[in-house]
Amino acid sequence: MLIVMDAQFKDEDLKGVVKRIEEMGFEAHVMPGAQSTAVGITGNPRSLDPRVFEVLPGVKQAIPVTKPYKQASRDFRAQDTRIPVGKNGLVIGGDAFVVMAGPCAVESEEQTVRIAKAVKAAGAHVLRGGAFKPRTSPYDFQGLGEDGLKILDAARAETGLPIITEILDQRTLELVYSHADILQVGARNMQNFALLKEIGRCDKPVMLKRGLSATIDEWLMSAEYIMAEGNKKVMLCERGIRTFSSHTRNTLDLNAVPVVHKLTHLPVLVDPSHGTGVRTMVAPMARAAAAVGAHGVIIEVHDRPDEALCDGPQALPPDQFAKLVEQLRAMGGVLGYRL
Ligand code: PEP
Ligand code: MN
Repeated sequence: MLIVMDAQFKDEDLKGVVKRIEEMGFEAHVMPGAQSTAVGITGNPRSLDPRVFEVLPGVKQAIPVTKPYKQASRDFRAQDTRIPVGKNGLVIGGDAFVVMAGPCAVESEEQTVRIAKAVKAAGAHVLRGGAFKPRTSPYDFQGLGEDGLKILDAARAETGLPIITEILDQRTLELVYSHADILQVGARNMQNFALLKEIGRCDKPVMLKRGLSATIDEWLMSAEYIMAEGNKKVMLCERGIRTFSSHTRNTLDLNAVPVVHKLTHLPVLVDPSHGTGVRTMVAPMARAAAAVGAHGVIIEVHDRPDEALCDGPQALPPDQFAKLVEQLRAMGGVLGYRL
């Protein structure tokens, strides 16, 4: 925290600021300058509320300089985090580009295994599929629940693909934990701190999607919630945010990828399916995600999108998905990743 004094501060104002800092058990460093005088604070284990200092006489502004997240920060760990997933040696966050794909929702065993085989043949590394679905309307298909998880087990047994599936609440954590290879925290749960803490106490890799209106700092604070409880296997996923733009379902914030690379060592993936909500835009934005340095993408694929119970209009048919994987593979030759 850096406290900037008013132009006309009095001597006792400065003494008061120093006293307040010392009373809190931290060290104050007075930095007189030609234009203004500032006081730096060190020794604070966590970020401080600037308002505590801004109410003191003679203080113009208190500026936080340490990041509110620690374990998620690049300052804490310079090297990129690599997260092993499943039993086949897959690592997320290294120099490989990871492709996760599958239906939005698990609808039946036939549908899931069929699509799982198609995405595997096209080169996907991880199978996605929601068994517990967070739907905007309570009357929409909510997912098959535990039956859906068993179907995902069958799809893994059939294809060998590790499974990513969404965890909606603490009540079902043990259940989802016992079936998933990666726990997906959806956009709507990004700030469900009770759930994040509970997930932090388990050892499963987690993909934390960015909230619908979350800033990057809020997103990283949520990652910190999981890491602070002990689980360091956190990957991030940019999935589009709410803006005034109405031609797409969300606005895929690809700026976030290089920003996040700078701020954190955690892997970051991109979801162009929810990020655009429009089938024809999924492949271009997936290629763009690879170009800006994402560690992978998660793509919704359905072989009968018109019959899909959820998100059909944004699902790629398997042939278009296979073509996209080929393009992403070719791009790796230029960008220096393996696929
Ligand atoms: C999903 O991946 O199926 C999903 C619901 O995504 P999000 O949480 O990003 O909306
Ligand atoms: Mn979906």
